[in-house]
Amino acid sequence: MFSFDTVIRNGTVVSGEGVCNADIGVRGSTIEAIGRALPQGAREIDATGNLVLPGGVDTHAHIEQISAAGLRTADDYASATTAAAFGGTTTVLSFAAQHRGLDLQQVVTDYHAAATRGAVIDYGFHLLIADPNERTLAQLPSLVASGCSTVKIFLTYERLILDDERVLEVMAAARALNAMVCVHAENQGMISWTSKRLIAKGKTQPKYHAVAHSREAEIEAINRIIALAKMTGVALMVYHVSTAEGAAAIGEARRQGLNVHGETCPQYLFLVTDDLDLPGNEGAKLCFSPPPRTVDDQVALWRALELGDLEIISSDHAPSAFDETGKLSAGPNPTFKQIPSGVPGIETRMPLLFDKMVSKGHLGVEAFVHLTATQPARLYGLANRKGVLQAGADADIVVWDKDREVALTASLMHDKTGYTPYEGRRIVGWPETVLIRGTSIIEQGELRVRPGFGQFLRRAV
Ligand SMILES: [Zn+2]
Repeated sequence: MFSFDTVIRNGTVVSGEGVCNADIGVRGSTIEAIGRALPQGAREIDATGNLVLPGGVDTHAHIEQISAAGLRTADDYASATTAAAFGGTTTVLSFAAQHRGLDLQQVVTDYHAAATRGAVIDYGFHLLIADPNERTLAQLPSLVASGCSTVKIFLTYERLILDDERVLEVMAAARALNAMVCVHAENQGMISWTSKRLIAKGKTQPKYHAVAHSREAEIEAINRIIALAKMTGVALMVYHVSTAEGAAAIGEARRQGLNVHGETCPQYLFLVTDDLDLPGNEGAKLCFSPPPRTVDDQVALWRALELGDLEIISSDHAPSAFDETGKLSAGPNPTFKQIPSGVPGIETRMPLLFDKMVSKGHLGVEAFVHLTATQPARLYGLANRKGVLQAGADADIVVWDKDREVALTASLMHDKTGYTPYEGRRIVGWPETVLIRGTSIIEQGELRVRPGFGQFLRRAV
């Protein structure tokens, strides 16, 4: 009899206690022990010279989601979570997306069916509410109790936007349940006003998407949503912060003692506005909302992450193929207004950040683990179970080859968009072996489990 089912031996382990050379002993689906010279396991993984980190927790991804305009994301649960797994992510939170007129409970049931069928990593849902009528709000207590403990709302997009009064209604309902409200904060009127003027002047190419979604539109909406959260006392998560001022407003709210949190995404840390200025319609690939900003904003976002003003780096994976099913659904030369928003990023999130934070040394490996795994798990009701290497936690473990150099390219990716915004970038460090609940799901460059292996996560409030 072996003491452990698996021992990951001799790696550099980042646990809740810091960085150390240690072995990890796994029994069943959980971590049993972390220490030196653990007894033999039934299976041994040699991690000498490698980093052993918790699996990534990506708390913002759009998967098998139908947009309000009727377009389905390029990825289903199988392809998106396979891409996530290859990129070192073992937990994903995606959306059960209500459109106006739909029954929220039925929406959640439908997304459960899709994810149960396809997911290869563990998953949970945010409740995306577009129609906060009486029936919807009456369903919230049971849905939150069933483990979908966060609500997402929009301050923009014609078919999704909630006015301030509706926002307050959702916030009050969420507050009563101790559920966090997540928000896409951009000012609809400012975007719509600017867009109309640009289009009237014939400025329709993809690069004008970034002009239409001005930084002021984000800054106004973040300040307003913080005020509404303060009024209701609800816990707030501001999604995909792109501007220095937006991050500063969140930092200020936190210093006032408000229960306000913020995330940013790799596309705001590694891309800038000028990246949209590509020949022909190519810039459509980089139309996402809010758009990337300036190098100064990148510096400010990194600083905000360092200070704890921003606490999470998620992917906001929103896969839209560069063809008539997605980016070019309005024809080969769409105006920026007709291009569905979103970029793929579920697979590149962890490797890009590993390269910057660990290989290049910016903030270091503990901050990398904190921002990509531990803190997302904590803030979304998965503390001590996901995003951490410690006894009793799920054995979601990634062995990183810290020396492997990779040129990012579309053919390497497992999502279905057919492109990556980071084409040609050379990075150092790659997730080599990925375990979920003690089972190897990625080994030697291959997926070792079938769609449906992933389990639904009932999250605490
Ligand atoms: Zn999103």
